[in-house]
Amino acid sequence: MISRVRRLPLWIGYLLLAGLLTVACLCLRGTARDAVFAAVSASSAAAIVLGVRVHRPVHPGAWWCMAAGMGCWALGDVLYTLVYDVLGSRAYPAPPDVAYLLAYPLLAASLLSLARRARPGQDLEGVIDATILSVGAGLLSWAFLLRPALAELEGDLLGGVVAAAYPVADVTLLAVLVRLLSATGARSCAFRLLAAAAVTMLAADVAYQVAYVATGYDGTALDPVWLVSYLLWGAAALHPSMRRLSDPAPPEGADVGVPRLLLLAGASLLAPGTLAVQLLTGAPLSAWAVVLSSSVLFLLVVARVWTLLRRVREQADQLAELARTDPLTGLANRRRATAETERLRDRALAAGTPLVLAVLDLDRFKRFNDTFGHPAGDRLLAGAARAWSDRLAGTGALVARWGGEEFVLVAEGLGPRHAEQLLAQLRGLVPQGQSFSAGLAVWDGAEEVDQLVARADAALYEAKAAGRGCTRTAPGPAVPEGAAPRPASGQSSWKRRPVTRSEAPTRSR
Ligand code: GH3
Ligand code: MG
Ligand code: MG
Repeated sequence: MISRVRRLPLWIGYLLLAGLLTVACLCLRGTARDAVFAAVSASSAAAIVLGVRVHRPVHPGAWWCMAAGMGCWALGDVLYTLVYDVLGSRAYPAPPDVAYLLAYPLLAASLLSLARRARPGQDLEGVIDATILSVGAGLLSWAFLLRPALAELEGDLLGGVVAAAYPVADVTLLAVLVRLLSATGARSCAFRLLAAAAVTMLAADVAYQVAYVATGYDGTALDPVWLVSYLLWGAAALHPSMRRLSDPAPPEGADVGVPRLLLLAGASLLAPGTLAVQLLTGAPLSAWAVVLSSSVLFLLVVARVWTLLRRVREQADQLAELARTDPLTGLANRRRATAETERLRDRALAAGTPLVLAVLDLDRFKRFNDTFGHPAGDRLLAGAARAWSDRLAGTGALVARWGGEEFVLVAEGLGPRHAEQLLAQLRGLVPQGQSFSAGLAVWDGAEEVDQLVARADAALYEAKAAGRGCTRTAPGPAVPEGAAPRPASGQSSWKRRPVTRSEAPTRSR
C-alpha cells in the first residue's frame, strides 16, 4: 500500500489531498468554510513552489511569478475571512480586493513570460489572435457586465474603478492564455491543466459578475468552481511536463486550423451579436462601443489575412527553391540547370560570346561506394560540389547536379581550351583523389539545350572509353577562344543533328 502511495504522481497526490480539503470546505459554513477556502488557495501557491523545486523548469521565473499570483489570491481569501467574517464588515471595495486584483497581473505576467520563452521572436499571428479575442470579450464584458455594474455604483468612484478592474483583468488573462496557446500549442499535460485552471477561474469570475449584475447575488454557489481552479493551478505546476511547457509549438504553416478559425470568426461576430441581443431584449444600445470594437476587429482580421498571405508567399518561395535545388549537394538540380542554360544561351547569343557545356561523371563511383559505403559516397558528392562552387564563385559559370554522380558545368564567354583547363582544375578539387571524366560541347549557335547536352554526353562516353579521368570535346563549330559562334543566316549551317551515345563520334579532336 505504502509503495503504491509512493508511486503516486505528485500532481495526482496533490489533487487527492487538496480535493479532500475542498470537499471539507464545501461541507462547512461561515468562518470555518472561509478559512478552509483560504487554506486551499494557499495550498495551490505552495504546490507551485514545490513543483518548481522538484521539476526544476528551464525558466523558473515564470513559475515563481505564478506562485506569487496564487499567493496574492490566498492572501485575498485570508483578508476576506478577516474583513467579512471576523470583523463583520460589509464594505466594498475592501482590502481583499487589492490582493485579488494584484493576483491577475502576476498570473498574466507568468503566462506571458512562458509564451515569450516559447516564441522569443515576433509572434505577430499569436498577438493578433489574442487581440481579436480580447476585443470581442472586452465588448461583451463592457456591454453586459461593466456598464450595468457602473450604473449601479453611480457616484462611487473607487467602487466603480474596482468593479471595472475585475472584467479588465479577466479579459487580459484570456488574451494572455490565447497567446500562450498560440506559442506552445496544447501539447503538454501541464499546459492543459494550466489552461483549464485559467478558464475555470475566468468562468467563475464571469458567472459571479453576471449573477451580481442580474440579482445582486453574492456568488457563494460559485465557490466550488474557484476551488477547482486553485487545484488545477497547483496540479499544473506539479506535473512533470511543466519543465518543458515553454517549448515552442511546431510552426503553424499557412493552415490556421479549424478550431482557431471558428474561434476568430466567433470573436469577430461578437460586435454585431451584441447589438442584435440588445435590440432584441430592448436593453440600452452600446452603439459607440460596437462601432469602435467592430472597426478594430475588422482591421485586425485584415492584418491576420495579411500575415497568412505573407506566410503563403514565403512557403511558395521555399517550395520553388526546393524544386530547383538538389538536396544532397545544395547545387542547382537538372530542372534549374536546364533553365539557367537557356538563359545563358540567350545571353551568349545577344552578346556574341561562346557558350560551353560539359557533362562530368565520377569515375568508377560504384566501386567507391562498395569500398567505403554509400554515406561516404554521399559525403564525397557533397564535398566535391562545395569545392567546385567555391572555385566557380563569381565567375558566372554554373555547376549543377544532373543526376546520380553526374554534373554539368555551363560557362558563357569561355572557349573550349579554357573550359578544358577549368575542368582539369575542378578534377583536382574532388576529395580523396577521386577523378571524373568529362564531355565538353560548344554551343553551335542554334541547337536546343538537350541537343547540346546530348553532344557533351557523347563526348563523355568517349572520355570514358579513352581510359577515364580526362576531357573530350565534341566535334562542333570552330570557335576562336573568347569568340562566339555566330549562326549563319537561317541558322541552318550551324544547326547540328543531335548526337546520341550510340552514334558517338569516334574522335573528339
Ligand atoms: P563509370 O566510371 O563508368 O562512370 O563507373 P561508375 O561506377 O561511376 O558508373 P555506374 O553508372 O556503374 O555507377 C554509378 C554509381 O553512382 C552507382 C551509384 O551507386 C552511384 N551513385 C549515384 N547516385 C549516388 C548518390 O546520390 N550517392 C551515392 N553515394 N552514390 C550514388
Ligand atoms: Mg554515371
Ligand atoms: Mg560514373
